[in-house]
Amino acid sequence: MSHAVSRFAMNAVARLRDEREEESTKPFLARGSRAPRCHTCRVIESHCLCSWRPQVESRAGVCLIMTRKEVFKPSNTGWLIADVVRDNFAFIWSRTDVDPELIKLLSDPQWQPYLVFPGEYVAPERVTHTVEATGEKRPLFILLDATWTEARKIFRKSPYFDGFPILSLLPEKLSRYRLRRSTRSEHLCTAEVAALCLDLAGDVDAASALDAYFDVFSQHYLDAKHQLELNVSTPAHTELLPFVEHTAPVMP
Ligand SMILES: [Zn+2]
Repeated sequence: MSHAVSRFAMNAVARLRDEREEESTKPFLARGSRAPRCHTCRVIESHCLCSWRPQVESRAGVCLIMTRKEVFKPSNTGWLIADVVRDNFAFIWSRTDVDPELIKLLSDPQWQPYLVFPGEYVAPERVTHTVEATGEKRPLFILLDATWTEARKIFRKSPYFDGFPILSLLPEKLSRYRLRRSTRSEHLCTAEVAALCLDLAGDVDAASALDAYFDVFSQHYLDAKHQLELNVSTPAHTELLPFVEHTAPVMP
């Protein structure tokens, strides 16, 4: 690992990917990935995202519960959260094989875990819409990074989450977020949900950096997919720039 890389937090999703790649007997072939991808950021090499990784402090931590498939998806956005939030953790979910490290993390007294999930599926007394940002314990956001069907299954079949408050993002908060960011999709992706959680926890810089980083990632990812030239003069790049320490000139 080069010195330049070690200034960043370890990306727990990248670690999972590397471990699963080692375990696998046949090489994993990602869909539509004929062009070589950067091993560090997963984007096609000509549109590499690595020099745009933000450095920002946050008090909150994030714990991603993922499906095996999600770990390998080049479009997975949990990866971006792990790039931004220093205290990031990621586990592959299994109903029968619960990782003891996950149980250890959830019982670590420095953290107050919040399971992020829609409140309408949960007993109302467990639901909260706010985060205790200044308490002794730091917020740890548990995000189910999977399809909605899988997320519901994980939620139902993980009794070790039963004691934690459910952080449910309010519809008005969500629609304000969509307006502000002109997000067109009805469902927010995991990185957008994480940015909202960080904002609730008072980690506003980390929230802004993650939002901008997600936009920049989407641009690089889609431009590469459509074989368009990389454009680093977008509003998202400008927004992200203050959070990025550039060692080489990037802006033309
Ligand atoms: Zn890269």
